[in-house]
Amino acid sequence: MKYVYLFGDGKAEGTAKMKNLLGGKGANLAEMNLLGIPVPAGFTITTEVCTHYYDNNCEFPSDLNSQILESIEATEVVMGAKFGDTQNPLLMSVRSGARQSMPGMMETVLNVGLTSKTIPALIKKTNNPRFVYDAYRRLIMMYADVVMEKSSGIETQNEHGIRHKLESLLTEYKNKNNYINDTDLNEDDWRLISDQFKKEIKSSMGIKFPDDPMEQLLGGVKAVFQSWNGERAINYRRIENIPDKWGTAVSVQTMVFGNMGSNSATGVAFTRNPANGDNKFFGEWLTNAQGEDVVAGLRTPNPLNEDTKTEDTQNLPSLESSMPDIYAKLFKIKIQLEKHYSDMQDIEFTIQEGRLWMLQTRVGKRTGAAAIKMAVDMKNEGMINKTTAILRVKPDQLDELLHPMLNSDSEDKATILAKGLPAGPGGATGRLVFTADDAESWHNNGEKVILIREETSPEDVHGMHASEAILTAKGGMTSHAALVARGWGKCCIVGCGDLQINLKNKEVEVNNQILREGDWVTMNGTKGYLYKEKIDLVPANPDSHSEYKVLMDWADEFRKLKIRTNAESPSDAAQAINFGAEGIGLCRTEHMFFDEKRIIAMRKMILADNNEDKRSAIMELLPFQKEDFKGILKAMEGKPVTIRLLDPPLHEFITLDDKQISELALKLNIDEETISKRISSLHELNPMLGHRGCRLGIAFPDITEMQARAILEASIELIDEGVSVFPEIMIPLVGTVTEYIDQADIVKKTAKKIENESGKKLKYLIGTMIELPRACLTANEIAQHAEFFSFGTNDLTQTTYGFSRDDIGSFLPDYLERKILSHDPFQSIDVKGVGRLVSIAVKEGRGVNSKLKIGICGEHGGDPSSIKFCKESGLDYVSCSPFRVPIARLAAAQSEL
Ligand code: PEP
Ligand code: MG
Repeated sequence: MKYVYLFGDGKAEGTAKMKNLLGGKGANLAEMNLLGIPVPAGFTITTEVCTHYYDNNCEFPSDLNSQILESIEATEVVMGAKFGDTQNPLLMSVRSGARQSMPGMMETVLNVGLTSKTIPALIKKTNNPRFVYDAYRRLIMMYADVVMEKSSGIETQNEHGIRHKLESLLTEYKNKNNYINDTDLNEDDWRLISDQFKKEIKSSMGIKFPDDPMEQLLGGVKAVFQSWNGERAINYRRIENIPDKWGTAVSVQTMVFGNMGSNSATGVAFTRNPANGDNKFFGEWLTNAQGEDVVAGLRTPNPLNEDTKTEDTQNLPSLESSMPDIYAKLFKIKIQLEKHYSDMQDIEFTIQEGRLWMLQTRVGKRTGAAAIKMAVDMKNEGMINKTTAILRVKPDQLDELLHPMLNSDSEDKATILAKGLPAGPGGATGRLVFTADDAESWHNNGEKVILIREETSPEDVHGMHASEAILTAKGGMTSHAALVARGWGKCCIVGCGDLQINLKNKEVEVNNQILREGDWVTMNGTKGYLYKEKIDLVPANPDSHSEYKVLMDWADEFRKLKIRTNAESPSDAAQAINFGAEGIGLCRTEHMFFDEKRIIAMRKMILADNNEDKRSAIMELLPFQKEDFKGILKAMEGKPVTIRLLDPPLHEFITLDDKQISELALKLNIDEETISKRISSLHELNPMLGHRGCRLGIAFPDITEMQARAILEASIELIDEGVSVFPEIMIPLVGTVTEYIDQADIVKKTAKKIENESGKKLKYLIGTMIELPRACLTANEIAQHAEFFSFGTNDLTQTTYGFSRDDIGSFLPDYLERKILSHDPFQSIDVKGVGRLVSIAVKEGRGVNSKLKIGICGEHGGDPSSIKFCKESGLDYVSCSPFRVPIARLAAAQSEL
């Protein structure tokens, strides 16, 4: 079996199409070779080796080593140098590369092949001993950390880890010799440091740093495969839904060096601006540096070209002006790559002694705003077609446009505390936390937090995910924090050099002011400004992005599903219409009863001891409800509005403490004991399954009658005012057709009465929520009577699984961690179970009633993968919260493509 694929010298055994086998990096390295782009030669070990390794108790296939040896020989021929040679040695890098990029989540080992035998040869060859020992100390540090420690399963806390120990040695050495920057250290310094590093490794770990090139290489390969199952890679896969079984490939590639002097350099670039989508070549570079220096953010990188310079970078040298010939070559490659891949590329390059080498190309991560702009621009430039443009934007990326920005008036009044690089747009406000673990635990306690770090590393991802925003003292626009935040659409500022972070005391000094853990701060991620106070946020206005509107119009051309919204106030309804909602799919009515004037009538009804008093209390609510419904129906003029009759158990309206009981007793002239007794009689052991939904309307038919009357009288009044209305009355939590018939009869009789009273004909629908398994299984009976179904997948999920909606949080993390569930079924529909019930109900319902209108109004109605399921199941519409309406529009279009 073939496990290793070569690339180099304009030839390659793989292509860009082979991502599953060669990983993104390996596939693209092969492709760049085929395109004639200069790439250092090497080979890729396939993802199948990774899966074999894990399926076989961490053993590699028996013929892997011989294939690696053959590939090294082939690489040597292309590069004209030999691995481990004492005359002309070749050095290698060993890098990970999964099918889908997992930035920084796995390990890398560089400069492999430096040993006591190859060092003198390389010094002779390069005539640059400082460079050779600098490379050697990097190899020792990386190798000790990644191969000798992490991959051999030694779990260490940060300060006990070998990397930390070696870094401390270096800091101590620099302090002792009054060195400030790494560039201050000379050849002898790096040689001494390398010796000290090796001694420390021997004494801390009890083993020697290997001096054999092959041992280094195979150790590196194993460590990279091992890092597929490192904690941070696993965490990242869980967040990004990347299957564990994919595995990573390993690319072994000839080293080229950007740190061989002033005509060497290294950089990263995007073919278009990943933050705003502008069609401008955008990137960062450093002279005399290795790639890790740019990404680690230890030195402030220079801008790539003149026209992307900012206020902060205007005095720094651009590659365009410093090395114009190389820049011209790079620019040509950028054009070639973008055209070839028809998408924005994220590229890495190294210039070794005036010669340009490409090390990587991949589809670049981008903000939501940039994704939309690029998709629309590329379609208009003729690079992609309309359907590709629609598919280019992930529905959830729209969130970023829909997310709050800082209120500009309040922001104008606030004083900027510090400035950094605007790595992730939008506004955020939250309380400062200093570690990723704190971010996660504060977040779990319901706090909004902003994570502040010197710089982030992949170990911080869980805390970054839990934070409203991320703020770092170091790093550039391509640093880890910037890439990860951008991928998630989070507000983020990096490289905020004024921050003096004291991690031990959990405080930060910023321009002579001290901020401590828990202090509120606000960030404007679009401008890179940090404020000390809390600043109010305003809802986003996606309409200000012209490309957004274009893309949404394109999506509307393709989608067949209608998009409705869940809204219960005229202002929410208006917001949703703004976002493109075509009706209301769920107007819950329970929150309408909590107003001071209404709740008293409700409580009077609950406490009444005879039907007459009950009815008169309920009817007190009629005028209020009529106003509510008029407001909603008017806001949705001409669009269908599904109003659900009262759903929650009654105790929710009368949860009172002793003082409130006394006050109520006085107001209603009932003794306290009666109230207390009634409250305890309403107590339910399992309220989510208790006396709620249509069971309420059956016990208290006057409630159904009052609500039906309110809806229909509101409709008549509006029609009289010239407003067209389409009310749909929805009966909740039906489990048997008899329940449905009982409630629908009350609605129909009430409608008849109103028609007689007013002399007008009413147009309305009556239907039901389908949120119990029994309702799905008897849909053929219910659909003979109902005019529409709306799947209440929140309750349907709860009742199908037997998980309570209210306390699944107590065990869900365990379930996800142990893969007992692949995802939270309350977020994304469980296709196998709940979905099967939905399909049965659709099929059987339509089987007896071909006109049956069917939608969904559970939270899943705004979830892209559930929307795809809804389309495949033949639903007419999905209904979701106003802010998810644009996401649903796009997801619905994508489900057709
Ligand atoms: C549902 O159960 O899915 C639903 C939309 O109703 P609620 O969330 O109000 O129970
Ligand atoms: Mg429900």
